[in-house]
Amino acid sequence: MKVKRDLLDRRKFLKNIGAAGLTSLLALPEVKAETPDANAPAKTAEAKLPQVPKRQLGRTGVKIPILSLGANRLDDQIMLRNCFKWGVTYWDTSHSYMGGNSELEIGRFVSKNQKQRGKLFIVSKASGAQNEKDVEERLQTSLERMNTDFIDLYFVHGLEEPEQLTTKLKQWVKQAKKRGVIRFFGFSTHKNMADNLAGAAKLDWIDAIMTTYNFRLMQDKKMQKAVQACYDSGIGLVAMKTLGLRTGISIETDEDKKITGHFIEQGFTETQAAIKAVLADERFSSACVGMRSITELTSNIAAALDKRKLSNRDSKALAEYAGATCSGYCAGCAHICNSALPDNSYVSDIMRYLMYYNSYGRRQEAKKLFAQIPQDVRKRLLRIDYSAAEAHCPQRLPIRKLMAEAVRSLA
Ligand code: SF4
Repeated sequence: MKVKRDLLDRRKFLKNIGAAGLTSLLALPEVKAETPDANAPAKTAEAKLPQVPKRQLGRTGVKIPILSLGANRLDDQIMLRNCFKWGVTYWDTSHSYMGGNSELEIGRFVSKNQKQRGKLFIVSKASGAQNEKDVEERLQTSLERMNTDFIDLYFVHGLEEPEQLTTKLKQWVKQAKKRGVIRFFGFSTHKNMADNLAGAAKLDWIDAIMTTYNFRLMQDKKMQKAVQACYDSGIGLVAMKTLGLRTGISIETDEDKKITGHFIEQGFTETQAAIKAVLADERFSSACVGMRSITELTSNIAAALDKRKLSNRDSKALAEYAGATCSGYCAGCAHICNSALPDNSYVSDIMRYLMYYNSYGRRQEAKKLFAQIPQDVRKRLLRIDYSAAEAHCPQRLPIRKLMAEAVRSLA
């Protein structure tokens, strides 16, 4: 009994200090929240710190750090300065993040550190673009906000189906590269990912893709095949939503306690284990993680720097955990529930907003996104018969229950 209680106490301790298990094991130097020079990377500190390793991004020939900053909640310079010091120089933002403030923060860093621009790999996205004119307009705004003449990698934001990769878009990409305003092009996707990746693998003008990928989706054969097709065709891959967090309200279950206990014994937290699991797949060049605090950053850096590989037993524990908790995670396979729900093609979007609300704590953003769903769909949410969709859902999600939760939390 005592051993069990000690283990649980330790789990609670690690959770409370923000998943810093590996950080302390590696005895990383302390990172101060403030530095005397508020504007520039501290060169002396930078020289002392280990740098996050790099991998090649597909056929682009560019090497990027294996841990990248998801700047979806970026609202100060401290995070950027610390990322820079550790070599986390791939910054993923978008036209829409923080209402434009994420790009403006990056712009402040760039204008104060002009000489470092070449060391950064800045990625942004044309959020909500319906056509090439929208893409161009958003790109121009992003360039201006970030005080830069070019964006290293430019994405169409949230591709839903491969048919959106049109010949007209291809022509725009060719022109944008010729003008020198973007170096590389691709898309991000968190819906129908396997279909989108498989479609892109047949095209020669997609340089890189950022896709949802984590220890849960690793178990999906269709996803594995699509990842391999992209890798074989030289498309660079970056993983996002790497932690595989739940959709609905997260109540700690016995399965959660078991997986936490398992990784504590190895000296990791489950967050660090989830990052290590993605990084173990070398077809992916980087794991992009949204980070808001220096504690989160150093914990994730420790996972990226740690050379120990997950054992077969660790991978098995993650796979078993994914299986046992699958009904709490929406895998984004929207074509499946959409085909069973002629009245509502927004189920997977709503599931994602619920995940932002419950697991990421991005409550205002989740509500804002929910409000963008057509009003007639939102009004009908509780009247729709979800039984056919629930029967087809490979994750066995209680869709009706989660839609009710979405209406309660997001409306
Ligand atoms: S609700 Fe089920 S079928 Fe629909 S996207 Fe999520 S996991 Fe796939």
